[in-house]
Order: sequence, then C-alpha cells, then structure tokens
Amino acid sequence: MKTETEAEFMSFLLDLYSSFLYSKKDRIVSIMDGIIGLEGEGPGKSGKPVSAKAVIAGMDALAVDSVAIRVAGLDLRKSELCIEGERRSLGYSSADKIDIFGVLLSEFDNKFIPPKTKSFLGKMPISTYFLKNLVVKKPVPDKEKCTLCYQCRTICPAGVIDKSADGRIPFYDYKKCIRCYCCMEICPEGAIDLRRKIL
Ligand code: SF4
Ligand code: SF4
Repeated sequence: MKTETEAEFMSFLLDLYSSFLYSKKDRIVSIMDGIIGLEGEGPGKSGKPVSAKAVIAGMDALAVDSVAIRVAGLDLRKSELCIEGERRSLGYSSADKIDIFGVLLSEFDNKFIPPKTKSFLGKMPISTYFLKNLVVKKPVPDKEKCTLCYQCRTICPAGVIDKSADGRIPFYDYKKCIRCYCCMEICPEGAIDLRRKIL
C-alpha cells in the first residue's frame, strides 16, 4: 500500500492494527523487548544501543507503546500514534487507564534521545512539495557507505525509491517522499543522512 503523507502512514498502521483486533477471536498479546533499546534513528544502524532493562507485554498494543515511551523517558504527548489510537478506541495510552504489574515506572530513569526524523509537517500533502523541500529534511544516501542492498526500496511505504541511475546510490523521488524516514531506520549500513535545503 502507498501512502502520501506521514499522517496517512500512521492511519494505515492503526487501520492494520484494528483489522487484527476485530478479526481475531483469540486475544492478541504484544511483547516489546527493551532490554537493549535504540535511541535516535533506530532500528537500523543509525540508532545508538542503550540499555533500558525492560520487557513490556500487554493485551493492548497502545498501552504497551505508551509504557515503552515512558520507560524511555520520552514525551507521550508527541506520540500521535498513541493519541490517535486512543481517539479511535483501539486501546489506552493515558497513565490513569493502564494497570502495570511488575516494576514501577518511577524506577526507570532513562533519557532516550528522540529521533531527529520527526517531521513537523507530517500532515502536509504532496502538493506543497516546494515548501516541504525547503523546510523538511530529506533522506539522502551516502555513496561511500551505500551497498545498493535496496532494503530502503523494499520498505518505502510511498514507493518512491528506484534502482540506481548511476550505479552508486538508489534514486529517491523527493517530490513524492512523505518523509517517514523508514528508509533511514532500515538501512543496515547507516548510510542515509538527513539534509535540508535552506532553513
Ligand atoms: S538500505 Fe542503505 S545501503 Fe541499502 S540501498 Fe538503501 S541506502 Fe543503500
Ligand atoms: S524515501 Fe524514505 S523517507 Fe521518503 S517515503 Fe520512502 S521510506 Fe519514507
């Protein structure tokens, strides 16, 4: 499936989760291994491993996500996925609605560095490409590090990465790129940098 904005991509993830939620008779358990987490641009080589010493599991994926955000010391108010998921009644992210068994959240003092890739113009449609190109960083493969494995091409939800034109780096169509940065997260070589034109 192709998505044209970050908001559409988020919506697609929630649609997918809700289809599992409502089509399965069995209950779903979500498990997150956070013994070693990645801060920054994870989960690929661009992230930095940090010991979070946590394994989080629950019957509500939104609650698991929101607890993980708190364990990492990040700001839950910036997780549009959790906010929108709760608005759609797919689960809970508010602390007062989640029962936690095991270690208390107050016992964690992690301060994970959030990804630089959070795009504040995520809801902007492709038609505003000119503005987007000026103010939002774009992912650019480094020809010294890129091995042309094309994992970025496989994962790109907008389908805007193509085979290399010069045999050195993949071709990225920035007019259609939704700046979701999945390519950066998946790249096994940490070969993708963020660049912005003017601002
Ligand atoms: S995933 Fe990274 S190494 Fe592989 S083709 Fe894309 S930029 Fe190059
Ligand atoms: S090129 Fe990268 S940032 Fe742009 S849409 Fe594809 S995966 Fe997302």
